[in-house]
Parts: sequence; structure tokens; C-alpha cells
Amino acid sequence: MIFTLLGSGTSQGIPVIGCDCPTCTSTDTRDKRYRCSAFVEDANHAVIIDVGPDFRTQALNHGVKNIDAVFITHEHNDHIIGLDDLRPMIFKTMKPMSIYAEPRVLDEIKDRFPYAFIEQAYPGAPRFELLPIHPGDRVTIGEITIEAVRVHHGNLPILSYVIQDQIAYLTDTNDIPREAAERIADIPILIIDMLRKKRHHSHFSFDEALQAAASIHAGRTYFIHMSHLMGPTKEWERSLPEDIFPSYDGLSFELK
Ligand SMILES: [Zn+2]
Ligand SMILES: [Zn+2]
Ligand SMILES: [Zn+2]
Repeated sequence: MIFTLLGSGTSQGIPVIGCDCPTCTSTDTRDKRYRCSAFVEDANHAVIIDVGPDFRTQALNHGVKNIDAVFITHEHNDHIIGLDDLRPMIFKTMKPMSIYAEPRVLDEIKDRFPYAFIEQAYPGAPRFELLPIHPGDRVTIGEITIEAVRVHHGNLPILSYVIQDQIAYLTDTNDIPREAAERIADIPILIIDMLRKKRHHSHFSFDEALQAAASIHAGRTYFIHMSHLMGPTKEWERSLPEDIFPSYDGLSFELK
């Protein structure tokens, strides 16, 4: 089973359109960041966490052929606006795509893609099966087990996901409640939000993410959802402790 980060950048991606800062003009391939998304596949099944505006390119680059289910962390555009591009998989299987999210987020998906839910839909419209998921729920797709965990993204309660009890995927958060922290303590791999050096109302800053990582004490920690304001990766990776790393698009892990 393989877990791959299809994207590791914040909502505008990197480079930012029209920006000529050192990050956006960096030649380090790690400084090209699509919007955050994670793909988990084994021989027979595949699931994706979040489907943002870069989904089509990410799927083509990674050679995604099938997706059995989609897990959504929250309703911000950079995490759901690519759902329409799931149509090739929906047409191939002739079944609605299973979308797991919290009830509030499922309602938001209906508002954002109303044409997918009308009875006499346009024949080319996507079809979604909306499946509510709550903190603590475990869903198994083939051999892939995904567990939902509650974190906070500023004022917004959102979901993080634990994959195969081996990877905790915590995008878009700056507050990990005690229950979640206990659930993911000492996990082999932690992937966690780290936006930039300056504080932000809904994302961990560099110092906050270091603190959170230290308290969770994962085997290895990787930062995601970086903004171009963080600077080029090679400049800040030097100040990381030895068990914390910058992530990059295409980073993958083999899972048991
Ligand atoms: Zn985001
Ligand atoms: Zn820039
Ligand atoms: Zn967000």
C-alpha cells in the first residue's frame, strides 16, 4: 500500500500567479507546490483525501486511474473545488462517487455543485453519493483503513484522517484537541499544517507546528500547506530538528 502527497501547498499554490518572490522563482522542484491532497492505493483500491483545484493535473501526473472513495477534511475551496473532475472515474464505473465528509461539509458540497444533485441532471454532470462521517469513525475500503479525527482550523471544526494507523494527515489546523493528540501520539508518520513564520488565525505557524510536532512525538513529521511567504524550502529546512522534514509534491510512503 502506498500513500502519496499529490500536493503540499497552501490555497494559492506555489508559485503564486504574478509573484516573483524568492520562493515563487526558486528552481528547487520542492518549491512547486500544488494544493494539498493525499492519495492512498493498494493493488485493488484507491482513496483520495481532498480534491482541490489542481486535482486533474495531479491525477494525470501520478497516473491515477481509479478512485473508490473520496474523504474530505473541510469545505474550503482548495480542498473540494476539483470534485467535478472526478467525472472520468464516475463515467467509467457508471456509479456515483462515494464522498465521505461531515454533514455540514456535505451540505456545502450540494451548494457548490447543485447541478450534480438535480433529478434530471445534464448527462455530463458528475454524480456523488454523500456519506456522513464523524470523528472516531473508521471506514475500510478494500484493505485501506481510514479513521476520522477532530481538529480545529481556526473557529472551524474539521476532520483529520489517520491512514492504516500509520500516518496522521493533519492539514489546515492550528489546534489539536486532547482527544486527537492522544489518538495520534507516537504515530510513525505525522503530516501537519505549517503555513508560514508569522502567526495566522487558522493555520499553524512554523513555531507552533514545531511545538505541536514535539508534543505528538511522531517517528517522523512532515510539514504541509506551505505559503510562498515561508521562503524557499532549502532556507528553512536547515532549522528543523532531525525528525522533522519539509514535504513536497510526490512524497510517498509505503504502508503495511
Ligand atoms: Zn487549505
Ligand atoms: Zn511568491
Ligand atoms: Zn482551510
